[in-house]
Amino acid sequence: MDRRTENIFLSIIVPAFNEEGNIEAVAEQIKQQAEQFRKYEIIFINDGSTDATAEKLRMLHRSNPNIQFISFSRNFGHQSALLAGIHHASGDCIISMDADLQHPPAMIPQLVSKWQEGFDIVTTIRDDSQNTSWFKRSTSSVFYKLMNRLSNITLEEGAADFRLIDRSVAQVISNSREYNLFLRGYIAWLGYKQCMVPYIPHQRQSGKTKYSFGKMMMLAINGITSFSVKPLRVAMILGTAISLLAFIYAIYAIYVYLETNEAVPGWTSVLVSILFIGGLQLLILGIIGEYLGRTLMQTKQRPDYVIMEKSLQ
Ligand code: UDP
Ligand code: MG
Repeated sequence: MDRRTENIFLSIIVPAFNEEGNIEAVAEQIKQQAEQFRKYEIIFINDGSTDATAEKLRMLHRSNPNIQFISFSRNFGHQSALLAGIHHASGDCIISMDADLQHPPAMIPQLVSKWQEGFDIVTTIRDDSQNTSWFKRSTSSVFYKLMNRLSNITLEEGAADFRLIDRSVAQVISNSREYNLFLRGYIAWLGYKQCMVPYIPHQRQSGKTKYSFGKMMMLAINGITSFSVKPLRVAMILGTAISLLAFIYAIYAIYVYLETNEAVPGWTSVLVSILFIGGLQLLILGIIGEYLGRTLMQTKQRPDYVIMEKSLQ
């Protein structure tokens, strides 16, 4: 494909959940960067916002037909919004970025120039030394370490959902029938010619983070269980080890009962082992349940999102 600047049709997809204070500025800054290409489209995915985001998007679309939007019927989450963007984008390459200006639109030309060099996936790596809270840094670091240890793919620490993908990659993603796709992992797993560009996140322009601790945990659990069955194996190994120990202890208990007369004391050890084994069983059941739940959701074949209104055909 011809990747010369004057021929490029660029798509930019921007998930937005209650971002009324940001979208106008984001649209403006992206537009300034995108105008140098032959054609561009900015697709906002309104993820069930309850503020004025929807009205602002309608207004933006009226004033500039290159700005499009998709509105979900409720909040389906950032990953579903990204997927919807990829499904609807029709550019030669597609850039995804946040609606809060933490991902600097000024980097768009740099990402595109990497694509022009021949890379199909350009991932950005967040430079956490500034502007990122201690909490975010440490939870994110634990997640990436765990993810890389447990799964067969390698995720760069700080890999963000700010990236460029070629149209062919978007096609593969659109054809995937996997429910609740963990995009970051899927893209790492895909292969293709990938490269990485570091960036320094800016401060969020307006509003608060929409990623609550709960949402972050869900993303982490989804990421790990969709790329690895090792937790199930850990459950099995733990189960085996504990029952072996229990067996040895049982032999010891029988010995004490038969050969000595110290059988009654031992209340503490009984209590501790019951609590411990009970807790462990719950944990393992939880792990099994998580995988079972994934299978259930997949077999139901529910859509990842429901669109209520859109400006695109
Ligand atoms: N977002 C979304 N749905 C959600 C949560 C977040 O579409 O349920 C969007 C949000 O509007 C923003 C991007 O995803 O454009 C990243 O969210 P945020 O900036 O709150 O996360 P953080 O940068 O704090 O990790
Ligand atoms: Mg943000």
